[in-house]
Amino acid sequence: MQIVVSEELIEQFRARTASASTSVPLAVLELDGRDVLRVTGIAEVLGPAPQVVYSRGPVPGYDRVEADFHVQSGIPAELQVIPGLQHLFSRQKGVLESDLLQGKRLVIVGMGSVGSVCAVELVKSGFMQFTLVDFDRLELTNIARHACGLKDLGRYKTRAVADLLLDKNPYCTVTSCDWDLTQHPEELEAVVAAADLVLVATDNNHTRFAVNRHAVTHGKPVIFGRARKRAVGGDVLRVRPGETPCYQCIFGAFYRNVPEETSQPVSAYGGTLTMAAEPGLALDIDFISLMMVKLAIQEMVRDTGSTLNQTLPEDLAAPLYLWANRREAGVGFADWTPLSQSALEMTILRWYGVDYPRDPDCPACGDFVSAALAGRGLDEIREEERSLFRGSAD
Ligand SMILES: [Zn+2]
Repeated sequence: MQIVVSEELIEQFRARTASASTSVPLAVLELDGRDVLRVTGIAEVLGPAPQVVYSRGPVPGYDRVEADFHVQSGIPAELQVIPGLQHLFSRQKGVLESDLLQGKRLVIVGMGSVGSVCAVELVKSGFMQFTLVDFDRLELTNIARHACGLKDLGRYKTRAVADLLLDKNPYCTVTSCDWDLTQHPEELEAVVAAADLVLVATDNNHTRFAVNRHAVTHGKPVIFGRARKRAVGGDVLRVRPGETPCYQCIFGAFYRNVPEETSQPVSAYGGTLTMAAEPGLALDIDFISLMMVKLAIQEMVRDTGSTLNQTLPEDLAAPLYLWANRREAGVGFADWTPLSQSALEMTILRWYGVDYPRDPDCPACGDFVSAALAGRGLDEIREEERSLFRGSAD
């Protein structure tokens, strides 16, 4: 085990322990009302090559001791404990080979209640290279559903989530992109082009269509996920460019005339408060996030000898997945069969895979020439495309 201590702290230590010889602790920390004592120290810190020391042993008055040093002084310390990488994922051996994921770069667009949970679950699975895209800051109304907590209020969501990921795995690399995507279209295309997989967890129609277009252009798989109004349910779409329907094939026509269904950002940091945040339980939203993560792992172990690749391709073969949390009147699913009464009918709390064909005339992934020859002029197609990309909420 390695203990990393800042240079500033070492200077502070030198000043206070000029006469000290060895085995002087740099930090003493009581946790959980004295049940746990964490003591950390560096021996021979005044020498030319500091040696990191770590040991265990009982200390009277404490139920658990994480390190045992002879305590001479306790200086507050910022400490980062870095375990060996092999220890982080020792309990998923035989199920998921984390080394298959470590070289994969994930781009996650949207760091809200869906994207932040996805990011944390992905790093726990073994992914180590992240690009996080969002320009929102963490608001009080976000906290109950977001992976981050009160200590991160006011921070960019990307940077707060980056700290969560590094706390789970200090070996991972996280790039934070605090962009308003409507102002940075070229940068968005660049991060999509550099990705192995893109996850889209934003409510914004314009962004979803834009990412879809870039992903199709550069041949990058994408997983789109969102909760429906009041988190009564949700859907997850996996796009394999040229192989499965893209976002526009399925949702292009649907969203042309339908307003945004999900939450709108509420900003107290430079924006205008125009609309209350869409209500919904984190519990109900997390089902969507976890399905996105499951599909992400499956996508990245595809064509490998992973244990997970032995059966999941048959189970998760559909491009689109639907989820219902409850049969809420006026919102959706109200006429479905109660879960307790049917194993065959559509019920809540089950994933439904939906097969869906590609649209041969799709403005994003379709064949423009064939569409034109079929009697639809290119000008007409381009106008349709423009109307789709404008998005209904922008
Ligand atoms: Zn398409």
